[in-house]
Amino acid sequence: MKELEEWFLENQRKLPWRENKTPYRVWISEVMLQQTQVSVVIAYFLRWMEQFPTIESLANASEAHVIKAWEGLGYYSRARNLHKAAKIIVANYQGLIPQEEELLRALPGFGPYTVGAVRSFAFEQKSPAVDGNVVRVLSRYFASLEECSKKGHYEMLTASILPDERPWITMEGLIELGAVVCKKKPNCLECPLMEKCKAYQEGRALEFPKKQKKAPPTLLKRHVMVACYQDLVLVKQEKGKKVMSGLYEFPYAEKLEELPLQLPKAVDMPEVKHHFTRYQATLYPALYHAEKKHEITGYEWHAKETLEKLSFSSGHRRVLKLFLELIRE
Ligand code: SF4
Repeated sequence: MKELEEWFLENQRKLPWRENKTPYRVWISEVMLQQTQVSVVIAYFLRWMEQFPTIESLANASEAHVIKAWEGLGYYSRARNLHKAAKIIVANYQGLIPQEEELLRALPGFGPYTVGAVRSFAFEQKSPAVDGNVVRVLSRYFASLEECSKKGHYEMLTASILPDERPWITMEGLIELGAVVCKKKPNCLECPLMEKCKAYQEGRALEFPKKQKKAPPTLLKRHVMVACYQDLVLVKQEKGKKVMSGLYEFPYAEKLEELPLQLPKAVDMPEVKHHFTRYQATLYPALYHAEKKHEITGYEWHAKETLEKLSFSSGHRRVLKLFLELIRE
């Protein structure tokens, strides 16, 4: 794949994590880029590096600070794992990210892709890093009938094309090609692999990769209570190992009578639809006025003007925005 290497060296995008490359910068950018577009990640990455310029500064930060810096990127377990892994790297490896596959795999949040990407881009090892871009390019290049979920198969195909000399360039080139040329709708005429790509040669590029049949999302309906007492609002910080752990939410329940407080409703707010993991939730927020400061286990009253400083889950952050717009009207 000499053509791919040459193409990448000439055409790669200028991205902040490709400048002053360090293992720490590679690691943070690769975790942020999972499930998130480059254009969104750039601002988050730059802000992150201002707040946590080194692994030590990340390890010493509070979890609330780390979660706040991540707010809006979703999948908060990734932020918590970055924090946990930074602490381990500082405690066990003098703040230096290890290069060995087994040591990396033992760190929180280091799945096969992150291990491959860090070893390849930070330590210049021959190490497949298979993401959706790589699957798309290689499934087309080889006209592979294996479903896109068969990561092991695509790791094997990747390993088969990585050269012994400077394999990391081809590895990053594959990901880049998938991101900018071999997209869902491929731009084959601009592609350095056009002549050897089986799917293109057979006029079947759009048939690949073969998709796995997805289970339909689980639908959730929730009444969300924005309860106010004077300038205070009732919220709850999720605890334990839940997906939303560490994030704030308003009281919510499937049925109105299951809300933690029974109050007369003041006004309905527009419904909010949002997806998380395998759920599709519809939130029905409404404003309520409490006549006293009820004490409810697990819930806290926060001043309205401080709410924006808290880290809310993405659906409830949209409810917060609606609420703030409503009271500012
Ligand atoms: S020729 Fe087209 S389908 Fe094949 S790798 Fe290039 S962009 Fe993708």
